[in-house]
Amino acid sequence: MDLQALLDDLAAESALFAAQGRVADYIPALAAVDPARFGIALATMEGRLLGSGDWQAPFSIQSVSKAFSLALVLARDGEALWRRVGREPSGNPFNSLVQLEYEKGIPRNPFINAGALVLVDRLLSLAGDALGTLRAFLREESGNPEVDVDGEVAASEAAHGHRNAALAHFMASCGNLENPVEVVLDHYFRQCALAMSCADLARAALFLANHGLRADGSRLLTRSESKRINAVMLTCGTYDAAGDFAYRVGLPGKSGVGGGILAVLPERGVLCVWSPALDAHGNSIAGVEALDRFTTRTGWSVF
Ligand code: GLU
Repeated sequence: MDLQALLDDLAAESALFAAQGRVADYIPALAAVDPARFGIALATMEGRLLGSGDWQAPFSIQSVSKAFSLALVLARDGEALWRRVGREPSGNPFNSLVQLEYEKGIPRNPFINAGALVLVDRLLSLAGDALGTLRAFLREESGNPEVDVDGEVAASEAAHGHRNAALAHFMASCGNLENPVEVVLDHYFRQCALAMSCADLARAALFLANHGLRADGSRLLTRSESKRINAVMLTCGTYDAAGDFAYRVGLPGKSGVGGGILAVLPERGVLCVWSPALDAHGNSIAGVEALDRFTTRTGWSVF
């Protein structure tokens, strides 16, 4: 199969779909991104890295970061994590307040904002500098020492982060945060504002396709933990459209409101696609479409 030709075709076909979506604007710094950008990268287990379009351009990874923070917390905390956060699809918007109140401050899963705040809180307790630990990991796994926070996006998130602050304060009131709310929010906003390219992200997530083994051959996760993260990505990784994503793409995936989507091809590699125009759930329209076409044409889904 000519994978390069396939990625080029997917990039060429993307424009039509991007025009149907809208760039996230609730974080003002994200609204300035050109909706016509499109990149796709494939990192394979054999060490190949292919891409098309804007696959080397850094973008705001936003919630894609949550797949990595889950891995870092699970590696340190094991099953104890699940006392503080669930692992069921939320069926609600990623920043819902009402569900958190019904469920007494235990977020439905680690990928909605409340759950990701718990991950940041745990990583602060377990590793000290949550953002620094995540950034160092991403630099090592991607092989790109330049991976860093976009300060403008982080400041914009902090200035408009009232909902995230409300979620964090509510969880603190329920006793589900160990660190001061302001510290948790600061690390969370900077984590979401990390800028990486499709190439960086695809390479950085290879451990999820490789049963938990890192790029240097050391083990981050047991096979079972790696399986579990992929399972949570499949069921909860693409907001309240995870069922539709599984139906169409058939891969564990994690999306972010910057327009990036990471998709794991177990034992084969990792795909990352970026197109900033989103659907109503917060998933990249052209990104989901490209992944759907990729698995349809290659047959490389988990089903
Ligand atoms: N920083 C964003 C927020 O907290 C992340 C949202 C996302 O990508 O899902 O709203």
